[in-house]
This record gives sequence, C-alpha cells and structure tokens, in this order.
Amino acid sequence: MSEGIRRVALVAHDNKKSELIDWVSRHRKLLTDCHLLTTGTTGKLVTDVTGLAVERLQSGPLGGDQQIGARIAEGQVDLLIFFWDPLEPMSHDPDIKALLRVATLWNIPIACNESSADFIVSSPCFRQYERRKPDFSAYQNRAVASPSA
Ligand code: PGA
Repeated sequence: MSEGIRRVALVAHDNKKSELIDWVSRHRKLLTDCHLLTTGTTGKLVTDVTGLAVERLQSGPLGGDQQIGARIAEGQVDLLIFFWDPLEPMSHDPDIKALLRVATLWNIPIACNESSADFIVSSPCFRQYERRKPDFSAYQNRAVASPSA
C-alpha cells in the first residue's frame, strides 16, 4: 500500500527562520502527524513556538545538514523543507550543496521556499504517494579497475 509523507526534515537559515516558523505554524495540524527531523536551532525554534515535538540533530554549520543528508541516504526522509538563504554566503556552503544533491539523487521532494512548501502540503500526494526509489544497481555494479596485487 502506498503511504504519504510521514517523515519531514525542516531546515532554515537564520534570515529564513521566521518564515519557516510561520509556515510550520500555518500547517501545524498537518505536521502533528509527521515525524519532524530538524537541524539544531531550527528545531529549537519550532518546538518553542509551535509546541511540536521534533528530533533535533546538530546545528547546520556543525554537521546537521550532513546528518539530514545521511538520513535521506538511509531512506528515512520523505520530504525536505529547506529554506536556505540565497542572499548570504554560508560557512557551510558545501554541506548545503551536498544536502540538496543527495535529496535530488534519492528523488525526495524538496521545497526551498514558502510557496513550494505550500504546494507540496496541499497536494493529494502528501496523503498518498509512492515515491519511486531510484535503482542504482548499474552504478553499484559498474566495472572499476581493481588494485593490482
Ligand atoms: P540551524 O542550522 O537550524 O542549526 O541554524 C540550519 C543551517 O544553517 O543549515
């Protein structure tokens, strides 16, 4: 049976945190049924303001983005809401790029701004969707030169 979105990762850069908190507050009822996975500071704000329970990982610049990326690679995330800041360079730019890359690779829906996030949660797919899991067997079984003994 296909399932909908149950495990939602939430990340927002500092200049985008209030936007994300407003968005979470507007969709609080829907998100109550989800497992929320967050970076450190984003998660603290979500809980403080909305009262929603979250699983908090490290702060983004301290490795939190990479932790979320690892959960995606492990098949534990259904949706990434990532309000990144297009106007500020970040110390952890490589991690941000890596998170967006791995989410794209694994065919995870991604919303990087409020209107995209609104579209996703108001879609019937939010309730029922079977995400195609990419098949990487050709890549995994590719021929690589083995080291000579
Ligand atoms: P933060 O991390 O929620 O700990 O601020 C977000 C980020 O900058 O990636």
